[in-house]
Amino acid sequence: MTDVVTDVMPEPAAGGRALSAPLMGRDAEPTLFELSQPGRRSWQLRTTGVPEVSLEDLVPAEHRRPAPPGLAEVSERDLVGHFTRLSHRQFSVDLGAYPLGSCTMKYNPKICDAVAVLPGLADVHPGAPASCTQGWLQLLVELEQQLCEITGMAAATLQPAAGAAGELTGLLLMRAWHDAHGQTRHKVVIPDSAHGTNPASVTLGGYEVVTVPSDARGCVDLDALRAVLDEDVAGIMLTNPNTLGLFEEDIVAIAAAVHEVGGLLYYDGANLNAIVGVVRPGDMGFDIVHLNLHKTFATPHGGGGPGAGPVAVSQRLVPYLPGPRPTRLADGAGDRYGWSTTPESIGRVHSWHGNALVLARALTYLLVHGGDGLKQVAQLAVLNANWLRTRLSGTYDVPYDRPCMHECVLSASSLKKSTGVRALDVAKRLLEEGFHSPTVYFPLIVDEALMLEPTETESLQTLEALATALEKIAAEAVEPGGAQYAAEAPHATPVRRVDEARAARTLVPTFDARRDVGS
Ligand SMILES: *Cc1c(COP(=O)(O)O)cnc(C)c1O
Repeated sequence: MTDVVTDVMPEPAAGGRALSAPLMGRDAEPTLFELSQPGRRSWQLRTTGVPEVSLEDLVPAEHRRPAPPGLAEVSERDLVGHFTRLSHRQFSVDLGAYPLGSCTMKYNPKICDAVAVLPGLADVHPGAPASCTQGWLQLLVELEQQLCEITGMAAATLQPAAGAAGELTGLLLMRAWHDAHGQTRHKVVIPDSAHGTNPASVTLGGYEVVTVPSDARGCVDLDALRAVLDEDVAGIMLTNPNTLGLFEEDIVAIAAAVHEVGGLLYYDGANLNAIVGVVRPGDMGFDIVHLNLHKTFATPHGGGGPGAGPVAVSQRLVPYLPGPRPTRLADGAGDRYGWSTTPESIGRVHSWHGNALVLARALTYLLVHGGDGLKQVAQLAVLNANWLRTRLSGTYDVPYDRPCMHECVLSASSLKKSTGVRALDVAKRLLEEGFHSPTVYFPLIVDEALMLEPTETESLQTLEALATALEKIAAEAVEPGGAQYAAEAPHATPVRRVDEARAARTLVPTFDARRDVGS
């Protein structure tokens, strides 16, 4: 046997590229393959006297590849330098305010990460028997209980990997419920302000989307809703506060109308940050709720990292939940926690326990905050959004001028008419003022939309600085050459303005992309 020790290679191999300051500028970071030098390693093996076993002895010839894979060969020093430089070219929740509406990009307390890397949690094999993982099962059961308490629901599945996966799970639960009652329904109603994943999930779930318009106040038009409700409607998907950041005040009447035709109410809980600890979807009349733990409950969100979208349901839907579910066993001798599945279950929607370490972070966040702390999260998130809305109302248009919840939707419509500067230009300029851009052109029903969600984690000083930056951008636009400057922004970021359409349609997810962009 040999020990693996990480060590910096004592001397760089001959040749190769030295990284000096000029190379660390814009568009200049080489790929690891370009840094590669034959024989360079970021580890070395120490001989311990135990005879080595060769690869040939371990893996039969027919399973071995003819030649080693063409991996980059770099020293630890080059590797760490490479990723550190790349990390400095990013914007992140750890760096500064990230007011990306509809996404709750808030600072995530580091204590949650510290818990998620505890060896007792991180190093457990998911296939370990329940008798060896009582602590993990207890954690999962307690998280489920807390999420049910927060949502006003009876039970939850922790399996879905993200919000959209929770939506599909919820729609499958809806279908299972109607099937069990001998009904085949075809339609699911969603408002025109809905997040794009809602209609996509409805379609994937095998239902037909029926859209209801918003009224002048930005809420579901109740009469229009009543007009589309019939016994072919399986349910309605809503997020409250809605995607305009407004609370659906008619929610009790909406719930009654949908229930009257035998439909179910699905709550898209991605906006829970606005109401957590204050109002419960279950009390509003919802039957199914998904939560985005990676938005509300302390998992870094973005970059495609793991998330979790638990789905909580009211009592009548509990039998259909995905299984197996971690379960507290009846008190007795032996294990206190195990796994259970009901015969009516829709089956698995994720392997093993779901994204378990995200679940551990969420429970940590809940325990650290407690009920009062969670309520304060929502109150401060709402206060911050209203502060921004009020402060910026003279500078940008406020399409729905009434108190908002955790996010406010502004518009650059007048700015565009008077100067030609669009919401997109404002967003790009903001990047070089030290803030992440807000969401733009969404919700679709607002012209030149700028959707800001400051979250509870930003201080008054940060909000001041953000508002000042947005005011500065609007003021610059009327100066000579100002519109042109905004149209060419950002000027100071590692990557300047990309062709948005080409970037989305012509994906080149390999390192060749860099050359492609440059050409
Ligand atoms: C983010 C979001 C979703 C989707 O969640 P993912 O985890 O990204 O799949 C759904 N609805 C709303 C309102 C959201 O903001």
